[in-house]
Amino acid sequence: MKHSEILEKCGFSIDELKHGGLAVSTPIDGSEIARLEMHSVAEVESMVKKSRAAFAQWRSVPAPRRGELVRLIGEALRAEKANLGALVTLECGKILQEGLGEVQEMIDICDFAVGLSRQLYGLTIASERAGHSMRETWHPMGPCGVITAFNFPVAPWCWNAALALVCGDPVLWKPSEKTPLTALAVQKICERAMQAFGDAPADLIQTIVGKRDVGEAMTTNPAVAVVSATGSVPMGKAVSLEVSKRLGRSILELGGNNGMIVTPSADLEMALRAVVFSAVGTAGQRCTTLRRLIVHESVYDELVPKLISVYENLSIGDPLDDATLVGPLIDTAALDGMEQALTQARADGGVVHGGAQALQELYPDAAYVQPAIVEMPGQTDIVCHETFAPILYTMKYRSLDEAIALHNGVPQGLSSCIFSTDVRETELFLSAIGSDCGIANVNIGPSGAEIGGAFGGEKETGGGRESGSDAWKAYMRRQTATINYSRELPLAQGIKFEF
Ligand code: NAD
Repeated sequence: MKHSEILEKCGFSIDELKHGGLAVSTPIDGSEIARLEMHSVAEVESMVKKSRAAFAQWRSVPAPRRGELVRLIGEALRAEKANLGALVTLECGKILQEGLGEVQEMIDICDFAVGLSRQLYGLTIASERAGHSMRETWHPMGPCGVITAFNFPVAPWCWNAALALVCGDPVLWKPSEKTPLTALAVQKICERAMQAFGDAPADLIQTIVGKRDVGEAMTTNPAVAVVSATGSVPMGKAVSLEVSKRLGRSILELGGNNGMIVTPSADLEMALRAVVFSAVGTAGQRCTTLRRLIVHESVYDELVPKLISVYENLSIGDPLDDATLVGPLIDTAALDGMEQALTQARADGGVVHGGAQALQELYPDAAYVQPAIVEMPGQTDIVCHETFAPILYTMKYRSLDEAIALHNGVPQGLSSCIFSTDVRETELFLSAIGSDCGIANVNIGPSGAEIGGAFGGEKETGGGRESGSDAWKAYMRRQTATINYSRELPLAQGIKFEF
């Protein structure tokens, strides 16, 4: 499909993509595909005000009716899956299967949120006083600002927005400046859903186009009750600081440095397949990408040479082509980052397999690479750092305790997994002295989570949780109410206060 055709199918006119200071290019060949006007800081302020006005109405709409809007958004996404999936591929370079998968994730979370809209359950609590009852109720919080990263340009917005909307919160979206087109296409889909809904307040869902400055304008504004930020650790630290200064609420979904432990009892064929998908999928640019492979010394020589030979035959190319498994990196800066990391790993004693630039003649302005495997003598600083590229560091271990210590010995704590058929090993890995990550899998790679569970991680990953389980509580305020239906006024803790 032609690039311009994808844009047209997503509802863009050629004219609306011609002017403005933000140049958007496709990582497929590095060419410019659009220019967009950026919002100013002053415009962001007025958008926040509008969001506040929308909140005044939306919080009083019954939650199941709010769910109806999310149902309509989910329906519209179903109808647009092929077009939006192709745009995800065009704008961020992941292969079409993964672009479609990302839109499916949006549909799934919409379905989840529709059900949730009838299940925003509180508690009834036993009161210590006669003739009293207690309950806990969840109320809408206020506008929810969502900051997203380039590598998952649409799904994380939807994890937040679908929940925020049923919880009664309007949504302001600041997408990555590298992927604003997918956001604007989703905004168009939402506008249509809101029209079909009929009486949604104006400006319930808004998209802010621009760079860091407009992200900061949204983050620092006290009227934005919840800020959910997905991206790098430095970004998360900056956002967290600003939101803390005003004692606001933030949900942080930051970088990962995900590991897999392969034990002597593992099914090595399964492990091999899981490693390849999770290490080279999205060209190593997932927050949950497998970056560290920790293999028992007795099976290392069986697994790692096979992996190296699979890596030599991976199809690298245009992500819109069905035969491609590895698309491009987002830009040449990412390529530089990968080259620097490989240079450092070599200096640390690592043996590098693959990792060269690819398809330079065909795509001189793009950044295709052969995924790299680096056999490391130990977990040096570069291994502890998240390089956002397809580099898989391999290390040997002798005892499971040593493997878990290596596994947990990095600053990030997003996703993790163990390949083993020994229940003692797998249960230890999942126990309090096992993996320290927010996600811990058994015989599944670290990437590709389902929406039903809470998604997020610990340590420098930021501690936030989004998506399924009870993650919705972060978008609401909790109210404890004590009701006295007696004719007495007893005080709690039996305190006497007579006058
Ligand atoms: P990035 O941090 O460069 O940018 C992310 C977003 O933050 C962009 O929209 C950017 O404009 C905005 N931003 C930057 N500084 C800001 C500030 N001070 N205030 C407000 N907004 C600001 O990240 P990226 O390069 O787009 O994405 C890659 C990173 O994101 C990786 O580290 C990856 O692991 C992480 N990520 C994490 C998750 C997760 O769920 N844990 C998911 C996807 C990506």
